[in-house]
This record gives sequence, structure tokens and C-alpha cells, in this order.
Amino acid sequence: FTIIAGQFALELQRVKLYEMVQELAIMDGLTEMFVRRYLLERCQDELRRALKYKLNLSCLMVDIDFFKYCNDKYGHLVGDAVLKQIAVLIKENIREVDFAGRHGGEEFCIILPDTILEGAVHVANRLRTAVEQHTFKAYDENIKITVSVGVSIFPDDATDLNQLIDCADQAMYKAKADGRNKVCAWK
Ligand code: GH3
Ligand code: MG
Ligand code: MG
Repeated sequence: FTIIAGQFALELQRVKLYEMVQELAIMDGLTEMFVRRYLLERCQDELRRALKYKLNLSCLMVDIDFFKYCNDKYGHLVGDAVLKQIAVLIKENIREVDFAGRHGGEEFCIILPDTILEGAVHVANRLRTAVEQHTFKAYDENIKITVSVGVSIFPDDATDLNQLIDCADQAMYKAKADGRNKVCAWK
């Protein structure tokens, strides 16, 4: 019995380790958000569902304004802390069915299933305002940060994932050109 119990405990440990590795592979260590690869996989699944059930889907691309300046002024550790807090604000401002990931260094992508343009712009503005009103506290520094958000809609703006992300990206650059701390729709 002792031998079997020992084997069983080992097996349990293996399962736990396996689950941990799985989670590490899909989660970004700093922000505890999905990594880009997993985010895109989930997004692809959601797009298939939207197509099948004739639903809309919105994509938000969020980019921190002048983040290089923040790093230069306060250092990378403070920059990292800001990224972590932005991730928390994103999670606080989306629904249970929405999901978000770290698309690049200081860029986040949010997917809102079953959501049309008006809803997406509303969420984007709620997040933009939450960031604008938040004081980021890190290592005795109090920092004000803003974000620019681009919005694209499936199937109005794009028919596949690459296009959808591309449109959100272009809309985000429009928001930057428009003065930053803005929300811009692709169309
Ligand atoms: P813009 O308003 O046009 O977006 O300006 P920006 O300075 O945010 O844009 P830019 O692309 O020039 O700089 C992005 C910066 O984000 C540069 C890079 O050092 C920083 N960054 C990317 N990933 C990380 C990270 O993991 N930690 C920290 N601290 N900084 C990061
Ligand atoms: Mg930026
Ligand atoms: Mg960027």
C-alpha cells in the first residue's frame, strides 16, 4: 500500500507540474495576461463562433502614450510596475466573457464577443478614462499615464483575424495622430 500511495502522490505532483507549465506557457509573467500567441488562438476560436452564429465581435488595441519617456524618466522597474497596473485596470473594465492579452511590449489587445461598435467605443472610453484618472504608484513615484485605443469590428471592418487586428492597429495610430488619450474607430 505504501508503494502504491507513493506512486499516486508522484502522479499527482506530475499533474500539478503539467498544469503549471501549461499556465506559464499561456500567461505573460509580468502582467499575468494571456501571451500574444494564446490570445490570437482564442480570438480565432471566437471569430469562428461569431461567423457561425452571425454575431459581431469587437477588437480593441490599447497602447500606452509616451511610454518610452516614462521608462527614461523613472526607470524600467517603474515602467514594469505601470504595465502591471494597466493590466489590472483592463481586467477591471471588461466583462467576464471578454478577454485580453499582451500583444506587444506596451500594447494590449482586448476582444469583446457579441459587441457592436457603440458598445466597443463605450468600453474603450471607460478604460481610457480609468487610466487617465488613476495615479500609478511605484517606488515612491506618483505617475500619470494615458492610453490611446483603436477599435475594429467583425464583420464590418474585417473578415479575418489578421485584418481585424490590423484595422484596430491602424485606428490606434489614428488616435495617436489625433493627440493621444483618445479612442478611434477604424471607420
Ligand atoms: P507613443 O505614444 O507613440 O506610443 O510613444 P511610446 O513612447 O509609448 O512608443 P515607443 O514605441 O517609442 O516606445 C515603447 C516603449 O515601451 C519602448 C520600450 O522600452 C517600452 N517597453 C516595451 N516593453 C516593456 C516592458 O516590458 N517593460 C518596460 N518597462 N518597458 C517596456
Ligand atoms: Mg506607446
Ligand atoms: Mg507601442
